Amino acid sequence: MSDSPFAEQPYQGIATFGRRTHTRDLTGADAAIVGIPYDGATSYRSGTRLGPRAIREQSLLLWGYNNALGVAPFDVLRVVDFGDVNVVPVDVQATHRAIEGEVSPVIAAGVRVVALGGDHSISLPLLRAHAAKFGPLAVVHFDAHPDTWDSEFGGQRYSHGTPFRRAIEEGLIDSTAYVQIGIRGPTAGPQDYEDARRLGARMITLDEALRIGPSAVIDEVRQRVGTRPLYTTLDIDAVDPAFAPGTGTPEVGGFTSHQMLELIRGLVGLNLVGADLVEVSPPYDHSQITAILAANLVFELLSVMAARKKTDQTVS
Ligand code: MN
Ligand code: MN
Repeated sequence: MSDSPFAEQPYQGIATFGRRTHTRDLTGADAAIVGIPYDGATSYRSGTRLGPRAIREQSLLLWGYNNALGVAPFDVLRVVDFGDVNVVPVDVQATHRAIEGEVSPVIAAGVRVVALGGDHSISLPLLRAHAAKFGPLAVVHFDAHPDTWDSEFGGQRYSHGTPFRRAIEEGLIDSTAYVQIGIRGPTAGPQDYEDARRLGARMITLDEALRIGPSAVIDEVRQRVGTRPLYTTLDIDAVDPAFAPGTGTPEVGGFTSHQMLELIRGLVGLNLVGADLVEVSPPYDHSQITAILAANLVFELLSVMAARKKTDQTVS
């Protein structure tokens, strides 16, 4: 924080996430915000390399107390802004190695990573890094798309449409506790959904989620995840493009902003060990509404982690 008496104003100062200290010194840290400014694995509109900076800027609008969960995450958790991973724009796999290389020591130090994307390909190295510490993970995956294609562009195995196929093949996900939520839109054929289900995903399509309602979705997630270490990956295109237009592969008819907030809050009490929020593409945003929503959803993820720590401290 600056010494300026006006430094608390959202339009002043340097934009770290939630005005947390920008440092790679993890002493005493509970959670680290890690930017991954990458869009080399997108298939349609690019621009997610600009996502982390836009989300950080809009995070300055966050006040500290989460009334819905009754927790002040920045008071309960020491959150640092780790800065950005050094990505390699022309090389997906080199970028993935850089992500895993920079994030693994953070996780090994017992610090929870919340990553700001970046396109969805970045979840693969993040899952590799988390599985190395926690073993196969329960995964809650919010998205309009299953992202379980085998390849894109004539055999490319590492795109933003393939990370969860690779993660399952590599044994990073406990597929009995892998839930996809918000899937919708036209596909090339029925095989896209069939593939995801065959890989073990419990797919709660957008239509099903709205039919049964958010609380039933949350109930099923909680029952499947149980006490397992949970990784949550949130593709902003799970939200309707009317609420989140700044994204690369929009699908009409998604969750409202409030439904998305409610679903994240429903993870409270689960053992959330890491998370990412991906696919925010500022060049297609308007009035920063997508980045504002993204910053708030990251705040909710941190609040879920903080509520759990608070409960653990009360119990012990
Ligand atoms: Mn998507
Ligand atoms: Mn995705």
